[in-house]
Amino acid sequence: MNISFLGATKTVTGSNFLLEGAGKKILIDCGLYQGKAAEERENYADFPYNVNEIDFLLLTHAHIDHSGKIPKLYLDGYKNPVIATKATCDLCSIMLPDSGHIQEMENEWKNKKRIRKGLPARPPLYTAQDAINCIELFKPVQYDEIVELTPDIHVRFNDAGHMLGSSIIEVWIKENGNEKKIVFTGDLGNNDIPLLDSPTMIETADYLVMESTYGGRLHIRNDDKAEMFLNIVAETLDKGGNVVIPSFAVRKNTRNTI
Ligand SMILES: [Zn+2]
Repeated sequence: MNISFLGATKTVTGSNFLLEGAGKKILIDCGLYQGKAAEERENYADFPYNVNEIDFLLLTHAHIDHSGKIPKLYLDGYKNPVIATKATCDLCSIMLPDSGHIQEMENEWKNKKRIRKGLPARPPLYTAQDAINCIELFKPVQYDEIVELTPDIHVRFNDAGHMLGSSIIEVWIKENGNEKKIVFTGDLGNNDIPLLDSPTMIETADYLVMESTYGGRLHIRNDDKAEMFLNIVAETLDKGGNVVIPSFAVRKNTRNTI
């Protein structure tokens, strides 16, 4: 068995792991690099594996830094299942075409600059239509359901409490009669937050691949957070000001809201 860390290493976006075992090659997440220009250029690089040799893609959740390169994978020839929870599949059917639309818009703007410099125009990473096409690969599963990928490989998606449909994925792989369990946490939520359930407690693992973005930070308690927020609102309104609240939202039939 082999695990390769191909994204979201020494940085927080572009999640992509390759798990090889029991004669199969399985990707976990296929995310876009987002944020820094140098990292975003990496999105155009070839995948560091033969796309046609990949048997399954397991998707922890719909955020674009975990899912945003699936349309490129599809364009490069991947036609096997993308396995995710139903909510993740539904969200991806909105968010990936929206990401394609953003790719097209940004590319148009970048091409204007390239042409001015005498460089050739280039196509977008993928289009909204490419993203719509790749949705045919998505296969929804339920939380807590043991799914057989092959007689030697089983997986289970557990609620990660991070966003609607987000999952901690357990993978059991049997090789030469010896079974190992690998756990991919994806992004993890907090306990006791509004709207979302707390992350599932996973009791055991032989190998644990874990999100650690805010692992070195102490979180403010929810009650304290609410009080701080109310104080800011009250104070601003007292002064006759306006409160502008940036929100991280997904809405259907809109653009640029991710
Ligand atoms: Zn996330």
